[in-house]
Amino acid sequence: MQTIGLIGGMSWESTTEYYRLLNQEINTRLGGLHSAKIVMISIDFQPMEAHMQRGEWDQCENILSDAARKLESAGADCFLICTNTLHKVAPGVSEAVHIPLLHIVDAAAVKIKSEQLHTVGLLGTKFTMEEQFYRGMLKEKHGLDVITPPAEDRQLVHDIIFNELCHGTVRDQSRVEYMRIIDTMSKQGAEGVIEGCTEIAMLVNQSHTDIPLFDTTTLHVQHAVHFALNN
Ligand code: GLU
Repeated sequence: MQTIGLIGGMSWESTTEYYRLLNQEINTRLGGLHSAKIVMISIDFQPMEAHMQRGEWDQCENILSDAARKLESAGADCFLICTNTLHKVAPGVSEAVHIPLLHIVDAAAVKIKSEQLHTVGLLGTKFTMEEQFYRGMLKEKHGLDVITPPAEDRQLVHDIIFNELCHGTVRDQSRVEYMRIIDTMSKQGAEGVIEGCTEIAMLVNQSHTDIPLFDTTTLHVQHAVHFALNN
């Protein structure tokens, strides 16, 4: 089994899920007392979030590149950035080390394409929903058409992530809003919806809707487990 490197803490609410799901998935596949081989760097999210809000992406890239080098030195065979949004700087971080970055968009797209879907809705931070690093990769690399909510709803989705979910707060009223937005994207032609933020599954999961949901935390974990057991 290969060792999986995690850059976590963005937020730690979802990093705990990565740790739990990685171990659960390895145990399901191997049985007995098997668990995942993991090394993790967990960063302080407050300064990182401030860099993001100020558009200081070079600083974000430096922090994550430093973390990736430490993971490589500690024996990781691959690494994950445990957030969708910071994949904005994934190309530079990937170049800082020799071990492969397992990209969260690839993890989501492989699953979506295996279910023969072509058009998906996308929920996440404003950076993820609006910028090309994410939806561009879905379209150009994977051939998937992407629908996003209108501006006012993108702001609402973004604010619920940072003001509630990243603090561990799950509100029924926020779930109602997310469900309304998911339903609208479905009526616009989305055959499924990417939960393109690693905390969204805390709020909305497949028990809440018949529309297929693609939870990036779970799919990223499955991608990593496949790598760990097949290389
Ligand atoms: N974890 C979230 C994501 O997957 C949002 C917090 C962050 O910006 O890192 O994008």
